[in-house]
Amino acid sequence: MRTAALGIARPEETSEAGLTDLLTGLGNSRRFLAKIRRLIADRASDPAPFVVGIVDLDGFKPVNDLFGMASGDEILCQAAMRLRAALDPRCTIVRLGADEFGFLLPLTFSEAAAGEQARILIEVLSAPYDLGERSARLSASVGCALYFTAAEGAEDLIRKAETALYDAKRAGRGRVVVYSQEIEDKARRVTLIEQALRRAVAAGEVEPWFQPIVCLSSRRVLGCEALARWTDRDLGVVSPGEFIPIAEERGIIGQLSQVLLRKAALAAADWPEEVYLSFNLSPSQLVDQNTSDHVLSILAETGLPPGRLQIEITETGMMCEPASAERIVEDLRSAGIRTALDDFGTGQSSLGRLRQLHFDTIKIDQSFVAAMLTDPPTQHIVRAILAMCDGLEKDVVAEGIECEEQAARLAFFGCQKGQGYFFGRPMRAEATAAHVHGYAASARPAGT
Ligand code: C2E
Ligand code: CA
Ligand code: CA
Repeated sequence: MRTAALGIARPEETSEAGLTDLLTGLGNSRRFLAKIRRLIADRASDPAPFVVGIVDLDGFKPVNDLFGMASGDEILCQAAMRLRAALDPRCTIVRLGADEFGFLLPLTFSEAAAGEQARILIEVLSAPYDLGERSARLSASVGCALYFTAAEGAEDLIRKAETALYDAKRAGRGRVVVYSQEIEDKARRVTLIEQALRRAVAAGEVEPWFQPIVCLSSRRVLGCEALARWTDRDLGVVSPGEFIPIAEERGIIGQLSQVLLRKAALAAADWPEEVYLSFNLSPSQLVDQNTSDHVLSILAETGLPPGRLQIEITETGMMCEPASAERIVEDLRSAGIRTALDDFGTGQSSLGRLRQLHFDTIKIDQSFVAAMLTDPPTQHIVRAILAMCDGLEKDVVAEGIECEEQAARLAFFGCQKGQGYFFGRPMRAEATAAHVHGYAASARPAGT
């Protein structure tokens, strides 16, 4: 029924059993392979390049979960129709599975032209989907590869398009990536890091370092943020900016986080009791309902009171699956753990959402602090955030303070707490203990 209505399956295709996708009426992955193989054979005497690509809908799963399977199917059918209509009839478009479509462009000869075609596909897929009483919006990512030589088989081309798609997805939504050696090298490094990290996590070789969070007026250390550090024997030092996203993507973050929290809580148990530990949770941990149990059992095991722990969560973390994230935040708060909204100002959450989110602390992102002294609009935004937090009775920590002038200006605007290289770089557990005891001692009245 659908097939006929879409008008995209020609009679000979429906009769070829096993080559058609029943939902959309497009060809399936077997047809895709056959078409690519045929084109490779055709080009044996005419070595003109062509393009193989994969389109993947961004955010299809949450829409499918929210609106139900029937709406999900409807979106896939509409997407199929749009893709078919957007391409020249000589091109092939198939559904590879779930929310992935493959395309073959026999008359596209350059990377630039491939990128242009792919952007058109993303554009047509980004228009709203009509679902009767509701509508949904999605974007899409595309990876593609150019065929240059007969030494490459159809499977090689598809694998290259997949590698490019993976790179596009990692970089965010709505992007096009054309395969290159550089992309291949990047993908290979990700795999190397993943394997080395799995080993390091199992062996407990990832360490928390700590950066002080200070009171801007007294300069006393109030708490320390744990920041993951890892040196692999072959890869050398790998920054958390690189390995944390890989740990998230490859499902290692839960175990990694438990190793880090256990070590960090043990270290913090040695600090003066008024100094708290601030610990980062990743967005994917807020989708896992076991997270709060894991955190609480590590506190019980290490003896760190919940009142001395603060959990940092980014705005993006709250947006992925808001209901799940809010439940975890509530569980942690009811156990007496404080929560901080990290990198505030860089995410997508609206001010309206801030009213519903129950955070004790807001951390102003370091990009604001970096620009504040030279850029008047940024300074206004920082003051507005401080005024808002004051009204909402939330604590504020300004991040990335690198000089006295930034610290002084923020204190003048009413910001109570700060963190940054000016007050201390992240340091090992032993150095941190000496640092926090030194501060605590010097802050006590003489003779006590
Ligand atoms: P973040 O949570 O926003 O952490 C602050 C980052 O800013 C840290 O980078 C810190 O070293 C850096 N920083 C602190 N003060 C200054 C300053 O004055 N100037 C500049 N330019 N930078 C400063 P780092 O340690 O490389 O961590 C990067 C990110 O990796 C963190 O950003 C956090 O998102 C993530 N991360 C680190 N450790 C963990 C962890 O244990 N768990 C999770 N889930 N994420 C972590
Ligand atoms: Ca943080
Ligand atoms: Ca931050």
